[in-house]
Amino acid sequence: MYCNWGWVETARSIFENSRERDVVSWSSMIAGYSQNESPARALSLFREMEVDGVQPNSVTFVSAIDACAGVGALRRGTQLHERVRCLGLDKDVPVATALVNLYGKCGRLEEAEAVFLGMKKKNLLTWTSIAMAYAQNGHGSRSLKLLHGMELQGMKPDGIVFVAILVSCNYAGQMSKGLYYYKLMTQDFGIAPAVEHCGCMVDILGRAGKLEAAEQLINTMKFESSLAWMMLLTACKAHNDTARAARAAEKIFQLEPKNATPYVLLSSVFCAAGSWEAAEETRRRMDGRGVQRLLGRSSIEIGDRVHEFVAASDVLPHHLVGEIFAALEKLGREMQGAGYVPDATAVRLRDVEEGGKENAVPYHSEMLALGLGIVSTPAGTPLRITKNLRMCSDCHIATKFVSKLVHRRISVRDGRRHHHFENGVCSCGDYW
Ligand SMILES: [Zn+2]
Ligand SMILES: [Zn+2]
Repeated sequence: MYCNWGWVETARSIFENSRERDVVSWSSMIAGYSQNESPARALSLFREMEVDGVQPNSVTFVSAIDACAGVGALRRGTQLHERVRCLGLDKDVPVATALVNLYGKCGRLEEAEAVFLGMKKKNLLTWTSIAMAYAQNGHGSRSLKLLHGMELQGMKPDGIVFVAILVSCNYAGQMSKGLYYYKLMTQDFGIAPAVEHCGCMVDILGRAGKLEAAEQLINTMKFESSLAWMMLLTACKAHNDTARAARAAEKIFQLEPKNATPYVLLSSVFCAAGSWEAAEETRRRMDGRGVQRLLGRSSIEIGDRVHEFVAASDVLPHHLVGEIFAALEKLGREMQGAGYVPDATAVRLRDVEEGGKENAVPYHSEMLALGLGIVSTPAGTPLRITKNLRMCSDCHIATKFVSKLVHRRISVRDGRRHHHFENGVCSCGDYW
């Protein structure tokens, strides 16, 4: 109950004080961490449980696999996969679904697909997980084939599957297909558009520069959706429409007064337009209203440990911190030699886009994770990083350079999508 309310610490103290702990109490606590944005703690508790000699069951495995998906711990996740296979739990629908989700989130489509195809029974969440895996990894067309697969199996696609389909169209930049499926969903399947569909359509239209149509769509919706306005605001940022951006931001300020994102986005729209005054004013309004800044958080799995970096920390809790900084500085010099010019706007945006204490650490969390990956793995090893927020433009440019300089494949799953960097190029085509 306390975990469901988000009171994880209270739950933990009850858990700590209970005289006897069985697999149910351990599983509840692990699930509590996993569902309350503390996947790293869920994983360490899972380990403690095993040290305590309690055998996990399928429910525990689902939470642990979800936690691996949350921090991008592919290696840990693969080990859990092996264990559930040995225990014969890998045919359990929730367990297999969690595995599909894990592999999808870690950018391993082949594995996700293999688990999916090996399942005799599937539920709606399974279909959604594979569809999202395709969508987020840029294989929209496969996601569309799924729709037909579901129909063949006599399952009626629900609204969530259409979210995945629209996300696919969106990431592939296919506006007309998106409009087609939106119509199919609302007219042929009679599914009323929910907030997610609306948000997705606004994103599709916004990406194509149809800002007017996107704004009209939001205004015709029967509900107020801050998500849809957020998508519009993001699109306004890409297309430098400051007036519309300000309108969208005002809506979100009303709907979600404590959300920092619209302030951050609006002030970066002003920055990009060169209106530094307006950008500053927006930041002051944010602080004046007591809105908490966003905390960037990135993780990287090395060996069987997950390392996490938080943007705002003054002191990095890592024993390799000296080496990480030295490596990043060396790369910085090599990047400049290779033609990287720190763009003044991008650098100012870097400070605007992600909060944290001023000058705490000169790098965003994903760069620190990248630095750790470089200094602690053999040359050429691919690196996988997971980040909670959207990558900023500056880190995105820098990571492209780094992938070329160190000859490594680097994938970053940020708050929006997967980026696969290789030889100086990113799979997102610089739109995210
Ligand atoms: Zn950044
Ligand atoms: Zn990218």
